[in-house]
Amino acid sequence: MIDLQAIFGSDGSLAELIPGYQPRSAQIEMAEKIADAIANQRHLMAEAGTGTGKTFAYLAPAILSGKKVIISTGTKNLQDQLFNKDLPLLRKAAIQPFKAALLKGRSNYLCTYRLNNALSSTLGFSREEADALSKIKSWGKRTQTGDTGEMSELAEADPVWAQATSTTDNCLGQDCPDIAGCFLAKARKQAQESDILVVNHHLLCADWSIREGGFGELLPKAEVVIIDEAHQLAETASNFLGITVGSRQLSELAQDSLMEYFKDATDLPALRTAAEDLEHESRDLRLAFGIELRKGDWQEIERNPKISGGLAAAQQQLQVLAEQLEYASVKTKALEACFKRAQELLTQFKMLTETSGGAWIRWFETHKKSVTFSRTPLDIAGEFQAFMHQHTATWVFTSATLSVAGKFEHFAGNLGLTDADSISWPSPFDYAGQSLFYHPKGLPQPNDSGFIAGIMEFVLPVLEASRGRAFLLFTSHRALKEAETWLRDKIAYPVLVQGSYPKAVLLERFKTAGNAILLGTASFWEGVDVKGEALSCVVIDKLPFSSPGDPVLKARMAALEQQGRNPFFEHQLPAAVIALRQGVGRLIRDFTDRGVLMVCDPRLLKRAYGQCFLDSVPPMRRTRDIADVIAFFGEETPK
Ligand code: SF4
Repeated sequence: MIDLQAIFGSDGSLAELIPGYQPRSAQIEMAEKIADAIANQRHLMAEAGTGTGKTFAYLAPAILSGKKVIISTGTKNLQDQLFNKDLPLLRKAAIQPFKAALLKGRSNYLCTYRLNNALSSTLGFSREEADALSKIKSWGKRTQTGDTGEMSELAEADPVWAQATSTTDNCLGQDCPDIAGCFLAKARKQAQESDILVVNHHLLCADWSIREGGFGELLPKAEVVIIDEAHQLAETASNFLGITVGSRQLSELAQDSLMEYFKDATDLPALRTAAEDLEHESRDLRLAFGIELRKGDWQEIERNPKISGGLAAAQQQLQVLAEQLEYASVKTKALEACFKRAQELLTQFKMLTETSGGAWIRWFETHKKSVTFSRTPLDIAGEFQAFMHQHTATWVFTSATLSVAGKFEHFAGNLGLTDADSISWPSPFDYAGQSLFYHPKGLPQPNDSGFIAGIMEFVLPVLEASRGRAFLLFTSHRALKEAETWLRDKIAYPVLVQGSYPKAVLLERFKTAGNAILLGTASFWEGVDVKGEALSCVVIDKLPFSSPGDPVLKARMAALEQQGRNPFFEHQLPAAVIALRQGVGRLIRDFTDRGVLMVCDPRLLKRAYGQCFLDSVPPMRRTRDIADVIAFFGEETPK
């Protein structure tokens, strides 16, 4: 029997290491439950409210089990935090010696082969790109891990990284001249040898999807798999089980082929022409969709001859390039790799264009400079079950938001879990004492054209009472922009807007200002942790139902309807409840936090389903009167 009290108890090892440590009964219970699940090989869904301390509650029994454990987190940041902060602390607590490793997707590791190729290429880079590449080169000499996240001088989204990282398509693998010093190969080897391996959902799903071959090829075989932020898994899995290809991949292939042509194949002018033509076709394909950024279903492509013609022309040109590359592939490994990429892309485009209905949803999305085409599974439950059965591991799913009105059906149904135990621990925070839920009377209807201006009239006095210190969370970018314009000259506190700076910079400014108002959409609804007074108010514009125009949602709803089921209650409503719970979860992050939650959607009380949202949020004191909000902030101890 594992002695968890020796770690979590008031005289335990964590108490010695963490100043002011207080044992939390829910944390110990959760750790015990997970230890039982591992010992008895029972799958478990464990919901733990904010403040339970769930990370240590699963890490400790995972380490003490002595088994090989994979832990998957929602984001790379969480992965880094777990590996660089939480695991070292437990190592200090000396609960048991263990080997830990961190593994990310291949695009997170410096590829020295491609970097050197780019640096020696005769194909001109701009001065900025050349500067960035030489910065990468000098960092590449210092780094131990090759993890691109270490290099703060260059933004993660900088397109130049594509020249210094690899993809499955362009990696030369065992044939690579740099294989001995390859950072990715090293990280994968460490992953194979570790007891506790920390990955993220993208990598877990990439391993599972057809692209990287079967499970176990990339990630080592594990006896226990713990999924943190498990509410995100179905969405990530759905993306990975599908296919997404687009004009950007076509133009990257064209550019890489050109680079190899200039290096080793200048005697094959037809290769150059084919690559340049593909580059043009991919640009024309994007232009055929017009400038608007949007998503649409496949019928729209089929109905529009300009778009369907552009897609066919791009595919045809890809075929031409593939033929030229096949001819050139005998010259070098790199040209052979380009040929394989072209073949793979041809297969993916074929799968996309030749699929019809059934188990797949086909759709497109336009981005600023590219367009992507996707084939998404209608549901992933069957596939996920096959994945779990293929591996005899014990699976633990945890998150602060798995249930809807106390039930796990939605989460379990999405992943097809039929034989998993479930348990929930509420947050240990005193929500009734620490918070207030404000829902004013007289709010406009969400479909009114003046909805945002209307709700902002109610929001302004709240922001004055809270003296800034607020997150305004919106369900659409358009609503955010409208609110920003409305608010600018009406409030004296600093207003920060998503998109104006990278997320981490905005959050840092928000915390430092201490009286700022931050306007954000989806990415600020979850995974954001601002403890203390800087965040004392969260305002939510609408109940976060997914956009009814989303092609994937539309198809999933139609499929449920065809089965005689209720798509609203079985799919749309539970997903919106989970999203709202995440947004609400930004407010109270600690035992000493205080704050007001304001929800501006009148459907909360006017529609019967509103009760499902109310039953799912923490037990806050509720009011419809602004005077209570003013009084709440008036009770604050002046600093
Ligand atoms: S093996 Fe692949 S990732 Fe590693 S250096 Fe070579 S091309 Fe890059």
